[in-house]
Amino acid sequence: MNVFVLVLAIIVAIGVLAYYRASLTLFTAAIAGLLVVGSLTDTAGMATWLIFLVIALPLNIASFRQQYITKPVLGLFRKIMPEMSTTEKEAIDAGTTWWEADLFCGNPDWHKMHNFPKPRLSAEEQTFLDGPVEELLAMVDDWHSTHERADLAPEVYDYLKNKGFFAMIIAKKYGGLEFSAFAQSCVLQKLTSKSMMLSSIVGVPNSLGPGELLQHYGTDEQKNYYLPRLAKGLDVPCFALTSPEAGSDAGAIPDFGIVCKGEWQGKEILGMRLTWDKRYITLAPIATVIGLAFKLFDPEKLLGDKEELGITCALIPANTPGVKIGRRHFPLNVPFQNGPIQGNDIFVPLDYIIGGAPMVGQGWKMLMECLSIGRAITLPSNSTGGIKAAAMATGAYARIRRQFKLPIGKMEGVEEVMARIGGYAYMADASTTMSVGAIDLGEKPSVISAITKYHMTERMRIAINDAMDVHGGKGICMGPNNYLARGYQGAPVAITVEGANILTRNMIIYGQGAIRCHPYVLAELQAAQLDDQGAAVTAFDKALFGHIGFAISNFFRTFWLSLSGGIFSHAPYNDVTAKYYKQMNRFSAAIALMSDVAMGTLGGELKRRERISARLGDILSMLYLTSAVLKRYNDEGRQVQDLPLVQWACEDNMAKAQLALNELFDNFPNRLVGIVLKRVVFPWGRTLRKASDQVEHQVARIMQTPCEARSRLGLHLYLTNEPGNQLGRVEQVLLDVLAAEPLFDKVCKAANKRLPFYRLHEVADLGLKLGVISKEEAAKLCLAEEGRLFVINVDDFEPGHLAADNSLTQQPNGADALNQEQAKSKSKAA
Ligand SMILES: Cc1cc2nc3c(=O)[nH]c(=O)nc-3n(C[C@H](O)[C@H](O)[C@H](O)COP(=O)(O)OP(=O)(O)OC[C@H]3O[C@@H](n4cnc5c(N)ncnc54)[C@H](O)[C@@H]3O)c2cc1C
Repeated sequence: MNVFVLVLAIIVAIGVLAYYRASLTLFTAAIAGLLVVGSLTDTAGMATWLIFLVIALPLNIASFRQQYITKPVLGLFRKIMPEMSTTEKEAIDAGTTWWEADLFCGNPDWHKMHNFPKPRLSAEEQTFLDGPVEELLAMVDDWHSTHERADLAPEVYDYLKNKGFFAMIIAKKYGGLEFSAFAQSCVLQKLTSKSMMLSSIVGVPNSLGPGELLQHYGTDEQKNYYLPRLAKGLDVPCFALTSPEAGSDAGAIPDFGIVCKGEWQGKEILGMRLTWDKRYITLAPIATVIGLAFKLFDPEKLLGDKEELGITCALIPANTPGVKIGRRHFPLNVPFQNGPIQGNDIFVPLDYIIGGAPMVGQGWKMLMECLSIGRAITLPSNSTGGIKAAAMATGAYARIRRQFKLPIGKMEGVEEVMARIGGYAYMADASTTMSVGAIDLGEKPSVISAITKYHMTERMRIAINDAMDVHGGKGICMGPNNYLARGYQGAPVAITVEGANILTRNMIIYGQGAIRCHPYVLAELQAAQLDDQGAAVTAFDKALFGHIGFAISNFFRTFWLSLSGGIFSHAPYNDVTAKYYKQMNRFSAAIALMSDVAMGTLGGELKRRERISARLGDILSMLYLTSAVLKRYNDEGRQVQDLPLVQWACEDNMAKAQLALNELFDNFPNRLVGIVLKRVVFPWGRTLRKASDQVEHQVARIMQTPCEARSRLGLHLYLTNEPGNQLGRVEQVLLDVLAAEPLFDKVCKAANKRLPFYRLHEVADLGLKLGVISKEEAAKLCLAEEGRLFVINVDDFEPGHLAADNSLTQQPNGADALNQEQAKSKSKAA
């Protein structure tokens, strides 16, 4: 053995041991073993052993290491440690981590992922979806609600209350439905497929609000009083956090309460005087009980030593004297009940605090805990329902609508757009199902809920835009027959609420993910905060050396997986999906490496470098979404027919992850680090591509052709063909048109001319005359024509009907009348 071989053997040994995450002891033993071989072959001399001992001994003797390495590093760490406010700390501490932590750590265990149980509906939940949900949807007229009434009809509210729609999260012992998160998601998806307004109204009481807060933190008295009332719909709740001065920065609400004594129902009691000014509060105009967040102060120290007690949540009956409630905002033509609420110096008992005196100042923590659940259910499910409905409607429409003598869905340009809608629909269902599945397993997945909320609402906005483009003027002209436009108008609502998306992407996903998912950072931060120096050094030492080993391992894993393209890494299935698992192995190692590099080089500054944080968050998100797609494919029995959808979604995500990494390197604040690491992660350049035209063609075909894959895409939507359900009607027309096409071809052949595919009743007459079709077949052509016209036609209105103030169009001197006069004189002149 010569020196070169020995050095090479040591490097390879370090690389292999690091790749497999060996312990420090194993590292030391393996290198010592190689040096013994070196000594026996006269390659390693005294100097080599000396270097080895100088490095290995301090690292392996704990007391020495802690005194001379860990202690100074801890001192330095305390200086550069990012400062955290209490609200930030509580936000980070909220919830649990789940599968995303595995993806973050560079070595995901795919068997573990596939072993998470597939969410299923209980018989009771299925019955609810097939019964009350269908019945409710048959009652709702979305145009009437959104345009004519600007509210749901009273009988719809009654039905919602009576059937427990507002009580899906409330426990059965209080009269609620106590549905799984998966069942709630299915209900909301189905409601959205007919009415976004309806799903918003149902979603809110089942999300973050009085019901959820009471169940987790309420006193027995509060639970026994309110929960049965909420379950029966005797009380309608809202939750008021946002104020004009504090939207995204909700921890900075100026609304306050002062602990004081006052008179209540004829007696002097300890209570609080509340002053607040809230806006954008969903259900506020019709709420009977307000969940209110405010900062509580105790200047007279009536409750204890502290004057500033922190954010607190209370339940205030809406009829409390002095509460100003009832006016409405007008959210983007999806006019669900939403409005401002004010209160000025209103005295209420301390018992109104959710959870009573022990929960004083715990409001922010309570909200963050509940948000880590609710954020994964309501908005992602509503958005998923919207994307899936857009996919089904667009698929059918593109097959029915013809231009240039062809269904528009056969044009390559349209196929590209359709593939995006279809791919997103498959992925949205997969991600939402996986996320709500985590909740049903008992998790409070704060990072996942932020990922799911952000990406589902963003994808919904893109999908609905795409669907509008494919529908052309049909999507633009509003009226009872337009099944897209309200979703298009309302998309920004979901983007803005429960953490506006720019903030969610730039601050929350990675900000929370980095600290919660990293196996050592939280332990380091916690150790550095310990007052006992001895305990701090011991705890920090454990975390620090674990962290160093983790970072070395990630470097070697990234280097090898990038160099090899991950092709030798593990994938649980050896089919067309194998490459996606392997690409994810590679990106998982890369994000683990880049996280440490970003935190190590930027320290607390990383919090302010939002765009670095956003890109790291994008990579984590893409890993999560792709794993959800692969899990769905597996959970549904690896249906080969679905492969184009799987391929499209995985390739789109992986290309996005690659782009985020590339942008991260190009913009990395330390340029040298950026350039070097770019070479490590992309030794062969950016090799991943988005889905091919061929895959996009296959996805577009699935969307336009009734088949099992298409039916899976539309699962849990309201597709029943009944009057008033445009989506259900379009589905039926698709079948009718497809059934008519061969008959049409028969008539054309017999007539020896290529007729246009319209006026099919005339084609039917011709076919009968030529004797090539039967009467039943002629009826099928006429049915297809009737449906076809229904699908392509749009609504129109009497001139005065659309003006909000009708009187303006009727006044002889009004602008409208003037315009009409001018138009008349112009046409005369012409
Ligand atoms: C229809 C509707 C219903 C609502 N329902 C409720 C309800 O029931 N209860 C309730 O309490 N609230 C409710 N809200 C309020 C909602 O949660 C807030 O609108 C939201 O938090 C954003 O606050 P803002 O609108 O004041 O925007 P701002 O906070 O002013 O933000 C404006 C933009 O700046 C971005 N931004 C802000 N800070 C950062 C940052 N640090 N980094 C990057 N980007 C940043 C945001 O992402 C956003 O894009 C509702 C809002 C709407 C519109």
